[in-house]
Amino acid sequence: MWDVLVIGGGNAALCAALMAREAGASVLVLEAAPREWRGGNSAHTRNLRCMHDAPQDVLVEAYSEEEFWQDLLKVTGGQTDEALARLVIRESGTCRPWMRRHGVHFQPSLSGALHTARTNAFFMGGGKALMNAYYRSAERLGVQVRYEAPVDRIEMQQGQFVAAYCKGERIAARTCVLASGGFESNRDWLREAWGQNERGEWPADNFLVRGTRYNQGTLLRHLLVQGADAIGDPTQAHMVAIDARAPLYDGGICTRIDCVSLGVVVNREAQRFYDEGEDFWPKRYAIWGRLVAQQPGQLAYSIIDAKAVGRFMPPVFRGVEASSLPELARSLNLDESTFMETLSAYNAACQPGSFDHTALDDCRTEGLLPAKTHWARPIDTAPFYGYALKPGVTFTYLGLKTDATAAVRFGGAPSANLFVAGEMMAGNVLGKGYTAGVGMSIGTAFGRIAGVQAAQVAMKSGANHAAD
Ligand SMILES: Cc1cc2nc3c(=O)[nH]c(=O)nc-3n(C[C@H](O)[C@H](O)[C@H](O)COP(=O)(O)OP(=O)(O)OC[C@H]3O[C@@H](n4cnc5c(N)ncnc54)[C@H](O)[C@@H]3O)c2cc1C
Repeated sequence: MWDVLVIGGGNAALCAALMAREAGASVLVLEAAPREWRGGNSAHTRNLRCMHDAPQDVLVEAYSEEEFWQDLLKVTGGQTDEALARLVIRESGTCRPWMRRHGVHFQPSLSGALHTARTNAFFMGGGKALMNAYYRSAERLGVQVRYEAPVDRIEMQQGQFVAAYCKGERIAARTCVLASGGFESNRDWLREAWGQNERGEWPADNFLVRGTRYNQGTLLRHLLVQGADAIGDPTQAHMVAIDARAPLYDGGICTRIDCVSLGVVVNREAQRFYDEGEDFWPKRYAIWGRLVAQQPGQLAYSIIDAKAVGRFMPPVFRGVEASSLPELARSLNLDESTFMETLSAYNAACQPGSFDHTALDDCRTEGLLPAKTHWARPIDTAPFYGYALKPGVTFTYLGLKTDATAAVRFGGAPSANLFVAGEMMAGNVLGKGYTAGVGMSIGTAFGRIAGVQAAQVAMKSGANHAAD
């Protein structure tokens, strides 16, 4: 019998598998995806957010536990478990030497609209290289990995894991770590969660999924039905406004449109609807998908002028270009007179200031609703560009409630041998909102904790069996 069964094949799963194996346990990983698509959403990532009290290799200056916590508190509006959040934050300060030992390389932050040189350690080669390094290390250490191995249910007895079922096969293990992601790839579940709006639309029908198609939430739903304690709201998710031309799945990072804070965003009716300059982009990009989801037709348009070009990560597809604003409105099929009213009102409301995209500058509007509170400059310099935006779901926050041991809980009591990590429990820390890189911090911290816990429990129960 396996000591530790890990279900899932992304960052949280591999962190758990590696830690359990290092602790001496036998480990089997079941990954739903084929080998070439392994790694889930983690393969799409670029960085993780790390606390540090002084400059640390690729990270400049300092980013204290308190500052990280305050950032999290702000973006979640207090919907976070402080003890678990602080646990993640502290782990983020100590995990990188371990990651390096397993072959992960880091590089300094990229320049552009993300202000991350101080806070985020970037993976050299991105998440794909990180996952390849972890799989290589796992194989070297003797972790067994099965691909195309979707688990559809697990067998429990009085809150204890007994076995998992994969394509009809029963796989027993002493302990289990669930790390099979959220339900973001399950379009029916998204539809059910978002329902129908006052315009009679089913908003989720217009969502695109930024990452893997394999996070169907099968085990999340199965566990919830079996009475596991839940955390989070099914409509809360990390949602980015992405290029409306992106594919349904796996569009990844290059479909992101990162010029929102440098211009204005209008909906299909050519009206602005939110402060584009509310805060630094890494603290705001993940709410824009949700904002677009609330607009008619789940569509919006990011509008910039020539002054913004070169100041943000260029999207993979070119924007619609025009030499005048009326021409841009026509090319985007927006009502020209409303568009011009919106843009003229915005331009007239921009106050003189010193533009600085690396600071919360004093360029703001006055007398405009909604206001643009930073980086507000008139959109007046040709050529003008427009990008159609749709909501892009990154990952959902509904998950399993857990504690500092990563145990799954049933009726408030922790399971003795069933643990959870990554997106499946991220809602404990992220009730809403997001700050860039914290997804990987959560998965790394809880994956590592779950792996150690599972190995300890398994080896204790294995020793007990041996003594029987
Ligand atoms: C485009 C994109 C960019 C991102 N960039 C960043 C970033 O730079 N920094 C950051 O912190 N976060 C980022 N994120 C979020 C980040 O990917 C997640 O927070 C993190 O990867 C979650 O890790 P995980 O292991 O829980 O999930 P995943 O990596 O998604 O892994 C889930 C795994 O479970 C498998 N699985 C699903 N169902 C089953 C089943 N029934 N049986 C067996 N296996 C199953 C899947 O195939 C997959 O391998 C990004 C996400 C996307 C989509």
